[in-house]
Amino acid sequence: MKTENKNKKIIVRFAPSPTGFLHLGSVRTALFNYLFARQNGGKFILRIEDTDKERSKKEYEEDIARGLKWLGFSSDEFYRQSEREDTYKKYLKKLVSDGKAYVSKESDSAETGKRAEVIRFKNPNKKISFSDMIRGEIEFDTTELKDFIIAKSIEEPLFHLAVVVDDFEMGITHVIRGEDHISNTPRQILIQEAIGAPNPFYAHIPLILDKDRAKLSKRKHGEKVSLSYYIKKGYLPAAMANYLSLLGWNPGTAQEIFTLDELIEAFSMEKIQKGGAIFSEEKMKWVNKEHLKLIPPDDIAGEIYKIMKNFYDTDMECVKKLSPIILDRISSFGDIADLIEARELEYFFKKPDYEANSLKWKGDSDIETTKTNLKYALSLLGDIPEGQFTVDNTKKALFGYAEQKGKGSVLWPLRFALSGRDKSPDPFTLMNILGKKETVERIKIALQKIQ
Ligand code: GLU
Repeated sequence: MKTENKNKKIIVRFAPSPTGFLHLGSVRTALFNYLFARQNGGKFILRIEDTDKERSKKEYEEDIARGLKWLGFSSDEFYRQSEREDTYKKYLKKLVSDGKAYVSKESDSAETGKRAEVIRFKNPNKKISFSDMIRGEIEFDTTELKDFIIAKSIEEPLFHLAVVVDDFEMGITHVIRGEDHISNTPRQILIQEAIGAPNPFYAHIPLILDKDRAKLSKRKHGEKVSLSYYIKKGYLPAAMANYLSLLGWNPGTAQEIFTLDELIEAFSMEKIQKGGAIFSEEKMKWVNKEHLKLIPPDDIAGEIYKIMKNFYDTDMECVKKLSPIILDRISSFGDIADLIEARELEYFFKKPDYEANSLKWKGDSDIETTKTNLKYALSLLGDIPEGQFTVDNTKKALFGYAEQKGKGSVLWPLRFALSGRDKSPDPFTLMNILGKKETVERIKIALQKIQ
């Protein structure tokens, strides 16, 4: 393959039909085309296949464009089949005048009783074979395809004709698409031969399946098959590309996390598998989390701030301290809204409400001990100057006492006084985020509650 690639500029296309929201399977097709083009210094064409006027919708085309832009897959050329009807007409006319296709009067349409006219391809009924870059040699006897329909009329080409004409006119060298198109290939090769077009190389990529090995479909999986769902969920474009690349392809090494540039470098058609690829949302979350770790902390804090400020009166300073804690608990930015809704972050911004008894550590026999420990902790913390309430400083101040009295007995009440929750980050982290003034106030409130 590599040697052939050197001789000719590689031109590939992503050719979605705008009949639904951009599907993860299509995104992966776009990705493989994009990677292959960029890796080889080739051309990546976006072609909207909207010949089916009833099912094609502008909103779907916009969704496709938005998705590709979000992913950063910039195309070098753009076409819309609905704007190329004159071209198809020219080819159709020629096919008919060459006797390679013919107008046929159909006596179907039982409902209307009308006789419809269609254009049928004159099938040479022969064996054809093509070498698929992923699946190897594929042979097909075209006889069973009969004289298939290539247009409803000279004005209305159908799918196969439009695809073949466009691939030819656009100089497509490699057709990389889903395995569900394998059965279309023999028809398309026949048309190529009839219009005198060369055969492109084919690479049919395995389907994406769910855990039960069923095809990932809108009917079964709802919005989770659409890219827009993951955009809304706050996934990172690079993580989506990374995860989808691993569906059907593997680098042949243990590396799993790739930036888009690294994918362009590492991608190879030879390492695409034949068998179906199993989609796992868990794995995708993991990949996204790994990508979050690649982002500089200040940028992450900025993103988190944009979300948090809609819910709480906060500032960048506070969010910067909070963001490692949040990052620890999310796999995508969309999870932050869930944390907020579950009121998991509320105590960072509002004094918690709780019963005095919860302040008592389970190892202590009475709440008097809790009170003594909290009072003493308060006095130790009082010695740390305002503005120096770092994790290290509060730890240093309290640790000796905590070791002496028992960590649980000192740290549990303190942590509870600050968060009002059974589970939260440790008290030192909390104090660092809340600052001295707020910490002191919350401990005093706890002491009042005990009285
Ligand atoms: N328009 C077709 C689809 O959306 C793809 C055609 C092709 O890649 O050849 O499934």
